[in-house]
Amino acid sequence: MSRFFSQKFASLIPYTPGEQPRDRRYIKLNTNESPFPPSPLAQRLARQEAGDLQLYSDPACAVLVQTAAEYFGVEPDELIFTNGSDDILNFAMMAFCDADHPAAFPDVTYGFYPVLAGLNGVPFEEFPLREDFTIRPEDYIGAGATIFLANPNAPTGIALPLSDVERIIASNPDNVVVVDEAYVDFGGESCLGLIKKYDNLLVTRTFSKSRSLAGGRLGFGMGNRDLIRDLNTLRYSANPYCVNRMTMMAGVGAILDEAYFRFCCGGIVKTREETAEKLKTLGFEMTDSAANFLFIRHPRVGGMELYRFLYEKGILIRHFETPRLKDYNRVSVGSEEEMRSLTEALAELLGEKA
Ligand SMILES: *Cc1c(COP(=O)(O)O)cnc(C)c1O
Repeated sequence: MSRFFSQKFASLIPYTPGEQPRDRRYIKLNTNESPFPPSPLAQRLARQEAGDLQLYSDPACAVLVQTAAEYFGVEPDELIFTNGSDDILNFAMMAFCDADHPAAFPDVTYGFYPVLAGLNGVPFEEFPLREDFTIRPEDYIGAGATIFLANPNAPTGIALPLSDVERIIASNPDNVVVVDEAYVDFGGESCLGLIKKYDNLLVTRTFSKSRSLAGGRLGFGMGNRDLIRDLNTLRYSANPYCVNRMTMMAGVGAILDEAYFRFCCGGIVKTREETAEKLKTLGFEMTDSAANFLFIRHPRVGGMELYRFLYEKGILIRHFETPRLKDYNRVSVGSEEEMRSLTEALAELLGEKA
């Protein structure tokens, strides 16, 4: 820390992104990226746009907003696009949380929420998941806090039923409920249909997972137009050009290419189910995942041991060395071939230990 660093950030612990080592080729199953390349249409529109990069991007993202509004069945002023959905989660933390509106989220969830609370000086409460890693909806009923719920949750992959999500939203009319639907395209039920009914609901989505654009950085939020206006006030104050030209057009292509989107999501769900079956026959235990990853443990192998063994084999998975998660690992669903390499390596490990 330099002597110039503001005291207010002295104790900030930044988010630790999944590792991206470059020393050799790895099978990357650690950051929930898509095994499929971006849609050919998304690639073509982004390439065309490269010829105009001397010009600033449209801060209103008009073409993208119009395309998305039609696709998702919302009004253009009920939508906001940002540089990845981490960006909109930050704006939501800034906009809707303070000492009177602390943040609340599960103790096991997306690691960015506590980091963003710290960054913005927001007090927060963490409600423990049940022993089986499911959310206890009762904790959030009338919580009097700005609630952040990843649904399906990460790193568990477990989806909360829409009826529970609605009860939580309805019971907190004086606080915003942010439902982070980063993984909804792989299973869970979306609460998007509720944004016209509840003015305190913000739904966030990302193009990073189901639309194969993690490197493009594109996320968005949908909600009541007044909420969206507040978020735009912050976005225009921080970085009005946060969505670059190429990403904006890649986003348009990714939405218009519905057939490719369905093909990718369908393939990932099929591979997830096949991999889960194989892992179960090897003795692995896992949560019921509605996402593009599996959250697994083995009764005879420690979480860190499993992670290290696969690392040596050139397969990266995500390990969290915290008390509740240390026996587990989160494994992204890659291509069929990558998952075959994974299950073969695991069969070898278990054979060695038998
Ligand atoms: C991956 C992820 C995001 C955000 O991704 P971006 O790449 O910033 O759009 C948000 N929430 C959860 C739960 C995620 O796993």
